[in-house]
Amino acid sequence: MSVVGLRCRECERAYPAEALHVCEDCFGPLEVAYDYAAIGKALSRAVIESRPMNIWRYRELLPLSAPPTLGLHVGGTPLVRAHRLGEALGHRQLWVKNDAVCHPTLSFKDRVVSMALNKARELGFDTVACASTGNLANSTAAHAAQAGLRCYVLIPNDLEAGKVMGTSIYGPNLVAVRGTYDDVNRLCSEISGRHPWAFVNVNLRPYYAEGSKTYGYEILEQLGWRTPAHVVVPMASGSLLTKIGKAISEMTKLGLVAAEGVTKLHGAQPEGCSPIADAVAGRGIIKPVKTPHTIAKSLAIGNPADGPYAVEAIRASGGSTAVVSDAEIVAGIRLLAATEGLFTETAGGVTVAVAKVLIARGLIHPDEPTVICITGQGLKTQEPLVAVMPPPPVIAPRIEEFESLLASA
Ligand SMILES: *Cc1c(COP(=O)(O)O)cnc(C)c1O
Ligand SMILES: [Zn+2]
Repeated sequence: MSVVGLRCRECERAYPAEALHVCEDCFGPLEVAYDYAAIGKALSRAVIESRPMNIWRYRELLPLSAPPTLGLHVGGTPLVRAHRLGEALGHRQLWVKNDAVCHPTLSFKDRVVSMALNKARELGFDTVACASTGNLANSTAAHAAQAGLRCYVLIPNDLEAGKVMGTSIYGPNLVAVRGTYDDVNRLCSEISGRHPWAFVNVNLRPYYAEGSKTYGYEILEQLGWRTPAHVVVPMASGSLLTKIGKAISEMTKLGLVAAEGVTKLHGAQPEGCSPIADAVAGRGIIKPVKTPHTIAKSLAIGNPADGPYAVEAIRASGGSTAVVSDAEIVAGIRLLAATEGLFTETAGGVTVAVAKVLIARGLIHPDEPTVICITGQGLKTQEPLVAVMPPPPVIAPRIEEFESLLASA
């Protein structure tokens, strides 16, 4: 296969492809390194197009050393040409990449988890675990059930009912922690020092993160092997945005897409937790947010692991960021539903609302191809909508009552 090993992102020291994530010399994060010359010989548009529509059609660019054994139907989600949303936002070249319907747990986290759990199996782990803001919990529990692996999932104790049930149904050992996501994550780092488990976003993070590249590959292929001028990406740890950037540069380097100018990477965060957006607007240094307050709980990471790399990727691409309020998030969810018939979770509301701001500010030109990244499903986060969505009128099963309802409307 095409994996050379792991490499430190800071000092480039090489490591074997094992369950390692930090450099012993400089404490920098490790990343998977590939033999791109070999990949270039094996991979062409025709080869990719001949394979089933799931993430494994890009297998040479993914970090497994053997064929995948689980998560075989992940990815291949629709890229929707969004005419009516575009009209509402004053934009003429708009697409929505819709991972609200990603198989099997309805968020883009299925891409990263299938990568991590296949790797966990390759490395011989019998127990997998994660710290999660919700969607990762859903996906880790589901994939572990499919694999028959023991599973521990740790979440903050204030998650939405849909996220909690969407985890517990698969039968993992689910633990709710009194604290923020960052508290949960710290606890998981400690646990991983004592128990020989595969933590998908701690010791398997280099493999996990590579799964996000498939979201980017699919966008490029579905645009007809072209790069968009802009993508608007929701940010929690900042990993998805960074890896979409990596996907674009890899496909350009391999000649799978024409180099048509740089794709601007725009980052979206909620007002109540915006450490990456604040760093881009300021001096580029991440200042951790101690107590996030936002309805976009899936984005509520106060101390983002990939924050500095996301800042760098946004700046290098000429992209920008914006932050939006809870009210704007709800409006974003409703606008996407009313114009495109797509129901996204709160994170998607952030992305739509931020796209609206960036178009209004002239940072996204209305005639340049633009992709809005919808990463999760609205049915999981109904709590903030209950207060604003009126219940339907109730009538008796009689035509007179229906007619009087029509007349009063
Ligand atoms: C986790 C998550 C994100 C952000 O992911 P990062 O790679 O950590 O930035 C975006 N949207 C949804 C729905 C998520 O669950
Ligand atoms: Zn290093």
